[in-house]
Amino acid sequence: MVRLRPVLVVHYHEISLKRGNRPLFLRHLRRNLEAALADVGPAPVRQLPGRVVVDLDGHPAPAAVQERVGRVFGVAFATVAYRAPSTLPAMKAVLGRLLESRSFPSFRITARRAFKTYPMTSVELNRALGAFVLERVATRVDLEHAAQDIRVEVLPSETYISLDRVEGPGGLPVGVSGTVVALLSGGIDSPVAAWRMMKRGCRVVFVHFHSVPYLPPTSQAKARALVERLTEWQYDSRLHLVPFGEIQREVVLGVPPPLRVVVYRRLMVRIAETLARRSGALALATGESLGQVASQTLDNIARIDEAATLPVLRPLIGMDKLEITTQAQRLGTFEISIEPDADCCTLFTPKHPTTRASAAEVAAAEARLDLDRLVATGADGATLEVFGFPRAAVPLRP
Ligand code: ATP
Ligand code: MG
Repeated sequence: MVRLRPVLVVHYHEISLKRGNRPLFLRHLRRNLEAALADVGPAPVRQLPGRVVVDLDGHPAPAAVQERVGRVFGVAFATVAYRAPSTLPAMKAVLGRLLESRSFPSFRITARRAFKTYPMTSVELNRALGAFVLERVATRVDLEHAAQDIRVEVLPSETYISLDRVEGPGGLPVGVSGTVVALLSGGIDSPVAAWRMMKRGCRVVFVHFHSVPYLPPTSQAKARALVERLTEWQYDSRLHLVPFGEIQREVVLGVPPPLRVVVYRRLMVRIAETLARRSGALALATGESLGQVASQTLDNIARIDEAATLPVLRPLIGMDKLEITTQAQRLGTFEISIEPDADCCTLFTPKHPTTRASAAEVAAAEARLDLDRLVATGADGATLEVFGFPRAAVPLRP
């Protein structure tokens, strides 16, 4: 009886490869697959034309491999496939074994040839293998709504036959789009924003502003827990913890209450930018969504952007709170975000922040601050922590 040799065939969307960056895309995809699989046993990753193949032959935990691969950005879907020599009898032998444990009310064969010189056409393969299935299983062919799709990929070297498919998250492999610094509060929105940047191929460096010792360190604990969760999507992360309480105290001394939130944000942006330049990041990202709170009106967003020289990306700008919340629940960040916490923004925050700060007002308020010193205090006072997945967190500096 033929021995089954399983592989996971990873498919990506060709669409993202039209920019001439295919080698870069594939290099990152492969490296990220290897990182995601680092602790689940030997699973060699090979690159073939148009797909990446993870060898599962003899693997102790193939389900864990599938689960991990299903969470690597850039993966459109993967099939749990079995290798066969590319002859019809060999394909039938493998398919026969796979059918032993299966029953399904309807099916279709989806044969694809990766090289057109194969002696049979896809249609001929569909017919021959379809007839073979009908001989062994009480079922019928249904091309439109098949209960079971049997996928047959004929490659130059061999053929992959699969009955099961794992959906991937799509997007681009983390790393292909460069690095961004994400401003991570303990709230619901910013972790989702960071995840969406990762999904577009960014490596995300996290910056969290805290008010220790004016407030308890709960917001830092939340930031760490969020980064740990998000690191499952990019395998290693850096979190900068910036002491912001003293800076806020100085703002309170010089800036009228309605303008304080905008001034805090502008300081956060400047500090984050300083850290961004040190990490080679090309943009900032925030969890702002238009009109959600007073600091997120078009006027105030304009004031925040004027303090930045790097682009400030806001992947949630057009999303409703409900959509963001649903996404946070799927990601598993929601439960962390709703933990009670004294965020630095609750400290020294006025009851009625302005929704329309003018550039002149903000400039006048900031003229009373020693901005360079405040920014340097924040950036130089920051501590750095490093997180790994699947490895445990490694603190760099205490
Ligand atoms: P979130 O749910 O992400 O906290 P929010 O709806 O509470 O967002 P704001 O408090 O106005 O909105 O914050 C807007 C954005 O500013 C956040 O999404 C985040 O990117 C950034 N931000 C706010 N507070 C902090 C903080 N303490 N540390 C780092 N970034 C912050
Ligand atoms: Mg918040």
